[in-house]
Amino acid sequence: MPKKVKILLIILIPIIVIGAVVLVYSLTAKAPTSENSEKDNVSSGGETAAWNLAAASDAATEIKSENDTRKSSDTGTDLVINTDDDEGHDSSDTNSNGRNMQSDDASQNADSTSDDPNQAGNINEHSGIIVVIDPGHTGAGQDTALEPLGPGSSEMKKKNSSGTAGKYSGLAEYQLNMIISKALRTELENRGYTVYLTHETDIKISNVERAQFATEKNATVYIRIHANGSTDTSVNGALTIAPTDNNAFLGDLIAPSQKLSQILLDEYCKETGMANKGVWYTDTMTGNNWATMPVSLIEMGYMSNKTDDLNMADPDYQVKIVNGIANGIDAYFAGN
Ligand SMILES: [Zn+2]
Repeated sequence: MPKKVKILLIILIPIIVIGAVVLVYSLTAKAPTSENSEKDNVSSGGETAAWNLAAASDAATEIKSENDTRKSSDTGTDLVINTDDDEGHDSSDTNSNGRNMQSDDASQNADSTSDDPNQAGNINEHSGIIVVIDPGHTGAGQDTALEPLGPGSSEMKKKNSSGTAGKYSGLAEYQLNMIISKALRTELENRGYTVYLTHETDIKISNVERAQFATEKNATVYIRIHANGSTDTSVNGALTIAPTDNNAFLGDLIAPSQKLSQILLDEYCKETGMANKGVWYTDTMTGNNWATMPVSLIEMGYMSNKTDDLNMADPDYQVKIVNGIANGIDAYFAGN
């Protein structure tokens, strides 16, 4: 037995010793490496985790902003004009939710948003485009004082006419124009434009003063909102008014104004189903002739025609009117 044990020990001891040496060597040699790589793993893992977190939160922001956008456009689609009036006022006063803040960013400061890439990503391609909307006429009635037909013109026209009225709805044209203009402002702000109205109350403001307001606001385009009237109650449909090729006042603005008028009318009729009466080319519009940017006047429909009049007074139909005009403005800038 002792002999067997001795032999066993003689075999085992070297193995144990060698094993121990190898173990110690491998521990001392590998320990730092594995520590380092562990550290690397920890730190790069941490960075990766942090990056993933940032990416995830970016993605969340994007998803959120997509939802916001969808929400705003849904609101636009479901918009009821009467309540939308209030929304319009709220959006400039309230920063309590994302949607309003987004439209405030868009409408107030294109420079600050473009400085911040994240903000710029949320604001769409309409950032920096200024739309001045002129709600035709006012509750102050007509102003028979005269003003020049265009800059430098000796031909004089009435400063402001009283407009028409709904033969069936009883709505005054200036009221309809204001309802549409305010809702259009909200819709365009939701689409990323900066928007101003020439007036919001029943002040006296002439056609020249309206155009000058657009110039003061550095408008990119000037959109004039009107509704038509005729002694023939069967006449219906929409038209836009653009300068002729020979307009004496608008020069380089003639062609883009004609293009704007055509696109605006086509998109409007497509969305609303209004009959398309074509663009009316005339140089008799003071408010067009004084513009210093592409201009179009839209006659949304005939307040003397039963179908047109009742449609235009209907809050559900007004949503189509607003979207149609906004689509026209979108299409004009998409093509430029
Ligand atoms: Zn009018």
